[in-house]
Amino acid sequence: SERTLVLVKPDGVKRGLVGEVIARIERKGLTLAALELRNVPRPVAEEHYAEHKDKPFFGELLEFITSGPVVAIAVEGPRAIAAFRQLAGGTDPVAKATPGTLRGDFALETQYNLVHGSDSPESAERELKLWFPDL
Ligand code: ATP
Repeated sequence: SERTLVLVKPDGVKRGLVGEVIARIERKGLTLAALELRNVPRPVAEEHYAEHKDKPFFGELLEFITSGPVVAIAVEGPRAIAAFRQLAGGTDPVAKATPGTLRGDFALETQYNLVHGSDSPESAERELKLWFPDL
């Protein structure tokens, strides 16, 4: 069994899609190891997205992720990292994510793509330490 960090981003929380995200995680057979609604301090946002610090969209990304509360979830199960990436769909909700995925069904723009999921075991470990240090 494996753990991954999932975030329902501020767009998802504002649009009332937290239940939808959790329902799909649970229906897939994954379980919730920890879950919390929280505001994102700027340093946590910077650390979370450190790999994008030189990208042209980094400033906007930080503005967006700190613009309102997120729901942080530690999701657990066999191949949880890949399994949640499958539920989320590709980063660009129109060009990459297909219908039936969270992004394919509920998002239109890459910046406002509803959810985050760790992309590798290394990322999952780093991100879970950042968001759930006591887990
Ligand atoms: P996440 O890390 O949030 O799960 P991802 O792994 O699918 O998403 P990344 O390439 O790591 O995608 O990008 C991280 C986040 O940065 C994206 O989810 C999106 O919100 C934002 N982003 C990525 N590319 C762009 C872009 N070209 N313009 C604006 N925002 C972007």
